[in-house]
Amino acid sequence: MTDKPTLGFETLQIHAGANPDPATGARQVPIYQTTAYVFRDADHAAKLFNLQEVGYIYSRLTNPTVAALQERIATLEGGAGAVCCSSGHAAQLMALFPLMGPGKNIVASSRLYGGTITQFSQTIKRFGWSATFVDIDDAAAVKAAINDDTRAIFCETIANPGGHIADLDGLAKIADAAGIPLIVDNTTATPYLCNPIAHGATLVVHSTTKYLTGNGTVTGGCVVDSGKFDWSQNDKFPSLSQPEPAYHGLVFADALGPMAFTFHSIAIGLRDLGMTMNPQGAHYTLMGIETLSLRMERHVENAMKIAAWLENDPRVDYVTYAGLDSSPYKKLVPQICPKGAGALFTIAVKGGYDACVKLVDSLEIFSHVANLGDTRSLVIHPASTTHRQLAEAQQVAAGAGPNIVRLSIGIETAADLIADLDQALAKATA
Ligand SMILES: *Cc1c(COP(=O)(O)O)cnc(C)c1O
Repeated sequence: MTDKPTLGFETLQIHAGANPDPATGARQVPIYQTTAYVFRDADHAAKLFNLQEVGYIYSRLTNPTVAALQERIATLEGGAGAVCCSSGHAAQLMALFPLMGPGKNIVASSRLYGGTITQFSQTIKRFGWSATFVDIDDAAAVKAAINDDTRAIFCETIANPGGHIADLDGLAKIADAAGIPLIVDNTTATPYLCNPIAHGATLVVHSTTKYLTGNGTVTGGCVVDSGKFDWSQNDKFPSLSQPEPAYHGLVFADALGPMAFTFHSIAIGLRDLGMTMNPQGAHYTLMGIETLSLRMERHVENAMKIAAWLENDPRVDYVTYAGLDSSPYKKLVPQICPKGAGALFTIAVKGGYDACVKLVDSLEIFSHVANLGDTRSLVIHPASTTHRQLAEAQQVAAGAGPNIVRLSIGIETAADLIADLDQALAKATA
């Protein structure tokens, strides 16, 4: 079936990218567990290698099961194309790779997934890249941080750990004026709650490990390109706008138009960096996405009930959920994620560090793990785990001070989750 944009999200999450298998009629997307594909003849092989014809060569670059997932995520995000890879962190490198070079930088939100902060503040330096971290709510600070070497602005739709919502439209305007793309990590919102491209984002990255797969079985990532950015508008993006020496002089922007970024990511990114998603992993994620809308509705409904209950509990100082009237981010909910503010937020527990540790140890249904976006409810105390290496002032700045516990609300029975929190808070604050 063709992916007509008029079809609803619930239809597309099941059907986009999933035509019946042409060889067998199999209704479900087969797991094409193969590394290579037989060429019809030498001429066919040459055309594939020249990008004159699109087809399968070798599964480090493309695989039909992974391609079905790419088409599904691109469709749900409203993008021109998508490339899947081995993890969310791989997706972030894949998104930056065509844009960056030694000496180039990105302007990134200071409130990001902890692993992303480490990747951007430490590891990318080895490529000669750097990140300037700013308060992404402060438009003047974002503008001031951009210089001639800046190649992108990077933020999360709903930020970890506090569930803060970014003003994507405002950030896209700043990026446009600077002639650079806005890259949005949409992992915690998912395309069901927000389509960053509709708010002006150029690239959307996902950790498919989280809500998209939804069942905690595989790691994966995806980069979606809007297809709308003009890579030739300035001289900042030579990998896309100039002859590419690693692809016999092809100019991707000229030859491939709106698919330039996606083809570059496959033909150069996956070919040479090799962060490939495997077909078995793509299968689990395709299965997960079929129920994304149903799960997200329940995630949001449960998060709303639990955040409201916690906010009224005297053992809790405050709750950061953007869906609550008390949140300064509440005003952005109708604009950025009208179906709900996600299911990730923090609580400040009376009794500080010791009470938080006791709370985490006393919960029975919530699992104590360094993960989010699972069907099951998850909890972590950042100050003793993910943010342990930071000084207390840095922890507080990241919204992860000693008295803070992060909750990722699952799709279990809300009353059971509330009862679990109730008994654990009683032990923690006794
Ligand atoms: C988990 C996560 C990542 C990293 O994804 P992996 O699949 O674990 O590599 C990036 N961003 C956000 C918001 C995440 O939750």
